[in-house]
Amino acid sequence: MDGPERTQEMTDVQAKAEASKCLFCFDAPCQTDCPVGIDAPGFIRRILQQNVQGAYHLIHRENPLPWICGILCPTERLCASRCPRKLMDHAIDIGRLQAYASIDKAQAKISKPSRGTLGNRVAVVGTGPAGLTAISCLARNGFQVVVYEAEGRAGGLITYGIPPYKIDKRRAIQEIENILDQPGISVHLRTRVPDPNELLKEHVAVFVATGIGGEMLDRSVAKFKNVYRATEFLKTLNRTHLQGRPFKRDLGPEVLVIGGGSTALNAAVSIRLLGSPNVTVIYRRTETEMPAWRHEITTARKCGVNFRFLLEPSSFIGDEGKVSHVVFRQTELGELGADGRRKVLARRGKKVEIAASSVILGTGREKRNGLRWLKREKVDESTGRLEGANIFLGGELLRGAGLIVQAVADGKKAAHEIEMLLRGRI
Ligand code: SF4
Repeated sequence: MDGPERTQEMTDVQAKAEASKCLFCFDAPCQTDCPVGIDAPGFIRRILQQNVQGAYHLIHRENPLPWICGILCPTERLCASRCPRKLMDHAIDIGRLQAYASIDKAQAKISKPSRGTLGNRVAVVGTGPAGLTAISCLARNGFQVVVYEAEGRAGGLITYGIPPYKIDKRRAIQEIENILDQPGISVHLRTRVPDPNELLKEHVAVFVATGIGGEMLDRSVAKFKNVYRATEFLKTLNRTHLQGRPFKRDLGPEVLVIGGGSTALNAAVSIRLLGSPNVTVIYRRTETEMPAWRHEITTARKCGVNFRFLLEPSSFIGDEGKVSHVVFRQTELGELGADGRRKVLARRGKKVEIAASSVILGTGREKRNGLRWLKREKVDESTGRLEGANIFLGGELLRGAGLIVQAVADGKKAAHEIEMLLRGRI
């Protein structure tokens, strides 16, 4: 089995050689296509001039998670998608150059002075990429930021969702801690906030970015001990990894992973790497419609993950609290639906029964139970602000699952909206 390839670090020589290929385009598409507007030609020029510190500052001005995004961003779909250098040989490797410029900062503890305290206490609930970005921007602009995080570590999706084979967790956590170490920030870990309205008694504004919850489990499925949510599986895997302990859960020889998104594939590859001999991803559409990124599908295949398409679970069979088989109905694709994807239709024909020692469900993520207070129709979708309250929503909570860099953009926007509100400009 070939292992997955983590984004490799660049050496000084490689970075300079790559930077020298940049055409430094006028109106550079790489900057326009970056969700947070990083001046890529600007920082690439600084790398070329061996001013790596300057390159870092240019990136960090727009994105407080530069190393993490440099490693994880699908740049071929974002900043590098229209890079004209592609016509000559290959698009400039902007992600790796960004990671190169940021790596020393991601490793070393840094502390930056804020621009002076305005005295306003702003609460941020959730420390995923959207929350961390808002915290960084607000603290940098002089607000006192009080952070609430339900887990024992900050980072949300970065810490508990992205599997260890994709990113060096130690460095990622250092970059996260660099943000939280800024002056003016106090952090409350293991602290749930059942109703953010309560926080308005002590804070002038609240930004909520707790993400959406795990996959929905029907009661008829939840009774089986060997059926797991993909998000919960990845969280447990990450927890044990961060504690330096081996992952002990035995998933058996036939693991079925149901779903075609990044979370399902992250789980499938991780399970293969843990040594399960047969891991099969089952998806109800075809490979073309899979929401996972192409490179994730390629990695899964390289790692020996099997795929079966046009199958949808219909029932789970087992006894003594354990699933032994899953019955699937066959599907076919119909016309385009309102979401721009082809509809899934039941196909006539025999049902398909597949043996399973464990099942991982990677479909149907639902809103976090603790956020029942939230009524989506009362949210201004353009600003994330709740009608009539100084509460703002962001990240996955506002617009569903997305990229880390999109969550960073959400965090910046929320911090800007809060600042405008508190300065009396809106
Ligand atoms: S689009 Fe490509 S070649 Fe042009 S400035 Fe950006 S990285 Fe350089």
